[in-house]
Amino acid sequence: MTKRFDDYVAVADADFSIASGEFFSMLGPSGCGKTTTLRMIAGFETPTEGAIRLEGVDVSTVPPHKRNVNTVFQHYALFPHMTVWDNVAYGPRSLKHGKAEVKRRVDEMLEVVRLTDFAKRKPSQLSGGQQQRVALARALVNYPSALLLDEPLGALDLKLRHVMQFELKRIQREVGITFVYVTHDQEEALTMSDRIAVMNAGNVEQIGSPTEIYDRPNTVFVASFIGQANLWHGQQQGSDGDYARLSVLGTTLRARPGDTTIETGGQATLMVRPERVRVSMERPSGDVATVSATVTDLVFQGPVVRLQLAAVDGSPILAHVGPEQDLPLLRPGDPVHVSWTPDASLILPAADIPTTEDLEEMLDDS
Ligand code: ATP
Repeated sequence: MTKRFDDYVAVADADFSIASGEFFSMLGPSGCGKTTTLRMIAGFETPTEGAIRLEGVDVSTVPPHKRNVNTVFQHYALFPHMTVWDNVAYGPRSLKHGKAEVKRRVDEMLEVVRLTDFAKRKPSQLSGGQQQRVALARALVNYPSALLLDEPLGALDLKLRHVMQFELKRIQREVGITFVYVTHDQEEALTMSDRIAVMNAGNVEQIGSPTEIYDRPNTVFVASFIGQANLWHGQQQGSDGDYARLSVLGTTLRARPGDTTIETGGQATLMVRPERVRVSMERPSGDVATVSATVTDLVFQGPVVRLQLAAVDGSPILAHVGPEQDLPLLRPGDPVHVSWTPDASLILPAADIPTTEDLEEMLDDS
């Protein structure tokens, strides 16, 4: 589907399926079109082009309350004068279920969200996380085909957000209902999702499992939005068995090809995650890509030391070094060797490499 607001393309030709029972997240910076996509699935917006099928039936023009989906927003409105139990009972009662069926469903859902002991309380007597669980129970109690969640944890503090991430995943597993989840928080998406659609400027850039997206991003945008990544400009020099040769960082290295074919002589980007970079005093031997570098800065962070280095050509290199590497005390200015196995690298299509400021801006605005 495509969604235009006048001339502005908010969602450009998004085309994907979500499996029944899947925890599917849409992730991207502010304004990338994820909420608009969710609102089209919910029925609050109509696609300009294309269609949405729910269990095989085209629902593109069906109003929200007639689609078998339910939405939980960041600012969920519980009925303040009703108890928790009555808040959850509201849905099945309005569907005119019998008393026994209403009781069965409400009790079951309160059990799932672990609020059985709070059934008689009013929303104002609950914490933020508990209120959010009431909102979830209320949205799930009519067994929708899919639950749509728009940044539902956005109003909670960081600690509670972490707890609720695990809670949400547990609840989703327990009820087996499809969750479609919108977030700008990559950690949240990585923690909970079966699959993630990474969106950028109205386009779905990549869809995959958290590990696929982290280990094999398709683009420089995905690589830099999910986790930290070293990204360097390079030029393809030809293939070398299963690998390619790339001139990069002032030398030529073997690297793992990505999904996009790059012709010999073509521009490319090399990606290596900082935790895959090894740092040593001696030049390592064996089948590794090696670059000479100088330490420029280092920060001790308990389990890892975050090292900033400069390659011979001046390119920055980031290494997250764990205790197993057993390094001597390093200081800025020290010459070292950095290396990684060719499998730890990935060749991506050439693109502008975001600076630290670009990344901060992208994450801030979200
Ligand atoms: P956020 O995380 O900030 O909510 P988002 O990725 O969910 O961002 P959307 O809300 O989907 O982004 O918006 C995508 C783009 O479409 C934005 O540039 C937004 O300004 C625009 N947009 C959304 N709704 C409308 C509307 N009703 N009229 C005009 N433009 C809109």
